[in-house]
Amino acid sequence: MRTGIFFFYQEGERLRDFPQALKGILERENVFFYDAFYPSKPTSSFDLESVSHEILYEVHSPGMVEEVRKMGIFEGALLSASGTIRAAEKIWTGEIDHAFVFTGYGDHHAGTDFFGGGCYFNGAAIAIQELRKRFGARRFAIIDTDAHHGEGTWEIFKADPDVLYGCFCGYPSWEENNKVNVNVPMKVKDGAYLDIVREFLLSKAKPFQPEVLFWNWGYDGTQGEYGDIGLTPEAHILLTRELKEWAVEISQGRLITILCGGSRRDLAHSLIPRMIAVLAEVHKDEKKISK
Ligand SMILES: [Zn+2]
Ligand SMILES: [Zn+2]
Repeated sequence: MRTGIFFFYQEGERLRDFPQALKGILERENVFFYDAFYPSKPTSSFDLESVSHEILYEVHSPGMVEEVRKMGIFEGALLSASGTIRAAEKIWTGEIDHAFVFTGYGDHHAGTDFFGGGCYFNGAAIAIQELRKRFGARRFAIIDTDAHHGEGTWEIFKADPDVLYGCFCGYPSWEENNKVNVNVPMKVKDGAYLDIVREFLLSKAKPFQPEVLFWNWGYDGTQGEYGDIGLTPEAHILLTRELKEWAVEISQGRLITILCGGSRRDLAHSLIPRMIAVLAEVHKDEKKISK
């Protein structure tokens, strides 16, 4: 499978070890690196374009876009969303099979007319509207394993039954119009968490048969993080394996993993290369070679 990595250079601690922490992965033939924003790098054919206002307006109100402009993070917010949008296009046109998107600012707290919690533009939502407009795609699923509730994503697709949204958070379980909130206990073991996600995939996502599966992945629920729900780092690796396999079954392998919450540099460094290695089947190949 061909793995696209959509890179975003973020000022600050979290992604300080990237992209150099991807050494050994980036060199592989089935891995494609698309660079969204890296101030010190020379321009290359893999540079990502920013997104136009017309594209933003497919999801967000002009007034909200203007408010975000005043926040001093506008370019970073645009390029974060751009990674997800380009990943979706390249997957749809068959250039790559699945993707990992680095972002500076996430998705799920950004709604039609509001933003907050480090989210300014809803990259997954914009990507969905782009795929619909440009390619006639219709049905999508978003699985959200950030520790917090995604009120922005929920609101954007509230009236849209063709987007299945599974939000795993501390709020009570409820469901409306293919928006599904799945309650996660305050403290949960890895195995129980995986069971909860698996149950959603089996009972909701599989029968829904989305054309693309988006994964709003946050690591803020990891032990010691700001949204600690008791998960160990290993839970994220297991989730990656699981979702990659489920995507083959339910969305023709089309999976877009989007970095959302999480703040620790050490966790980003230890988790993200391993997750991308799972997507790109790095160790599977190594095993083959060593046989
Ligand atoms: Zn969060
Ligand atoms: Zn929720």
